[in-house]
Amino acid sequence: MERLKERKAKRFSFSLLNLNCPRLIIKTIDKDPYEVFPSEETDMGKKIHAIYADILKKDKKDWDFSRITDLIDVYGNPERVFRSIEGRFSTEQKIRIRIGGRIFTTVSDLLITRRGERDIIDSKTSFSHEILPSHREQLRYYALPFLRKGLRVKVGIHFARYALLEWVDIVQGLDDYTKIANHLMDNITKVERVIAGKPDPEPSNFECKYCCPYILSCPSSPELFITNEKQAQELAGEYIKLKARTKKMEEILKVWATSVGDIYLKDDKLGYTPSGKTVIDPEATLKYLTEHKIPLTDIFAPQAKKFKKLAKVHPDLANFAEIQYSPLWKVTKNDRKEEEMSSFIFSNKEQEKNKVKKAVEEIEKILTSVK
Ligand code: SF4
Repeated sequence: MERLKERKAKRFSFSLLNLNCPRLIIKTIDKDPYEVFPSEETDMGKKIHAIYADILKKDKKDWDFSRITDLIDVYGNPERVFRSIEGRFSTEQKIRIRIGGRIFTTVSDLLITRRGERDIIDSKTSFSHEILPSHREQLRYYALPFLRKGLRVKVGIHFARYALLEWVDIVQGLDDYTKIANHLMDNITKVERVIAGKPDPEPSNFECKYCCPYILSCPSSPELFITNEKQAQELAGEYIKLKARTKKMEEILKVWATSVGDIYLKDDKLGYTPSGKTVIDPEATLKYLTEHKIPLTDIFAPQAKKFKKLAKVHPDLANFAEIQYSPLWKVTKNDRKEEEMSSFIFSNKEQEKNKVKKAVEEIEKILTSVK
């Protein structure tokens, strides 16, 4: 229970309670710096949430949903979803509730206030409009602060891409409050047991792939363990995307660092550090070496670019150079034709198996050497 001594371990949110992997839970509580950033879809999801929040907090007469429909395809009329709902709208309401000595934080995308009742609406931006048990559970937890005040609470899900609002539950009274609060406490206790235990990774395809920002250093990450060509292709795809994204991130961060200043994280600082450069006077150096009979080869190193330029004027120089090919790790264009791709197999099955076996052993070694 050592970790529970920390104040932050007594604060819970639905997203924390929804995690399963002990390593992920503990890293999330410890607020370890992210190793990978959220996927494109998550970025877009945040953007959609922010725009909806901005629109819905305004007076109904000022609603302008074109900011959403310009950004994404919406299969329906977003305005019709909310127009007929009576009450005072507030968005992104953060409410803390103390329960069993712990603090549980709820953030409702949309909270509608009417006398004696509240509507809580959570927006989903995924391409699915399936109502999952976890959606219902989340919304029932969010109803707790209002149930405690004796209010009637109606909870629903707004599927933003389909302009669809599904009411999923109505809760009211002490019985509902007790049932939901007990359920929440069971979940908190489950997570507390994880926090008190060992932070072992417990891989699951969905959580590792879509929810885990600590996947790069994870010894059990299923994404990193490849055993066949298809998985190698998938990982290569991720790598190419990440590389392009990293480059873009670097450009953005450089702009920020140049105009605003260094960026400070928990353990790191990102920005420009001064570097030194040695400037040599070539003519004076050459004169000194000649006068003191110091062999030129002691400091002379021909540069390929200059050499090639000089060889254009003195062709005989080219006899002193050769091109050596060595493998270079980089992403290049695939020049195989489609039919070649589909018929491409290793010529020797046994050779293929041995190569894969050797690669798998090496990957295993790499994965067991990282924390
Ligand atoms: S990659 Fe998977 S197993 Fe590893 S910490 Fe993340 S969720 Fe857990």
